[in-house]
Amino acid sequence: MGRIAYVNGRFARHAEAVVHIEDRGYQFADAVYEVWALFDGRLSDPEGHFVRLERSLSELRIAMPMSRAALTMVLRETVRRNRIREGLVYLQVSRGVAPRDHAFPNPAVPPAVVITVSRVDREATEARAARGVSVVTTPENRWGRCDIKTVGLLPNALAKQTARAAGAVEAWYVDDLGLVTEGASSNAWIVDADGVLRTRDTNANILRGVTRLSLLDLAREAGLTVEERPFTPDEACAAKEAFITGAGSLVLPVIAVDGRPVGDGSPGPVAQRLRRLYIERAKATAI
Ligand code: PLP
Repeated sequence: MGRIAYVNGRFARHAEAVVHIEDRGYQFADAVYEVWALFDGRLSDPEGHFVRLERSLSELRIAMPMSRAALTMVLRETVRRNRIREGLVYLQVSRGVAPRDHAFPNPAVPPAVVITVSRVDREATEARAARGVSVVTTPENRWGRCDIKTVGLLPNALAKQTARAAGAVEAWYVDDLGLVTEGASSNAWIVDADGVLRTRDTNANILRGVTRLSLLDLAREAGLTVEERPFTPDEACAAKEAFITGAGSLVLPVIAVDGRPVGDGSPGPVAQRLRRLYIERAKATAI
């Protein structure tokens, strides 16, 4: 983790950075967050993340804590102070600090803002992508508004722990219809037996991943047939390839689902190509 955090208008040493015990993020998970990948000290997919942040805040009726331009400056300054070039930037905006009461504070209080930066070892993550990762499936048990990127991540934390305990990297949620929704912290994709690139549509209860959106564009530009259409775990195992996307994982090949190999059990060419294309585009458009 970086040495410096931004907390409500101040930069503080990470080890000493604190939020109030009445922060509604802490009390009620009444907060949203965003995560940007950092390439050479610059924020990737800036537009997508800002648009989603503004939407998450608006759905919860939390005010944007400052203008986009000001927030960009603060994010970049936090990155600069941490002297991290390759990593992740975490932003959390809560409804603010108020005596504990489920209903919103009235009058409204200023939103509380926290930013941290962590380092990513790109060599290690590239090596992991070259090996591929395993996922396990788990029943969908989250609330009905997974399109809002809230810090209410207990089901995701439990699912991730299930994956970890099984030696897997990600857990894929499976809904009542037996269809994969998404991962605990990523979107799920396959290249099906017919060579069609498939990922769940956003009418489903999933997060509209920013990486997912960029990759849909890139894949279409690359001439792939793309469908926002659900798949089952069985279809994933029968698929040619599978992978996950997210600001942390970028494009990460999946080689096994519940211990069953996907395709020939090694990272596939489409996922590897899309990973390269995504990283190239992210680097070229980062700010
Ligand atoms: N789905 C969930 C549940 C997530 O938590 C995340 C990222 O944290 C994603 C998907 C991927 O989103 P993005 O590509 O915007 O990082």
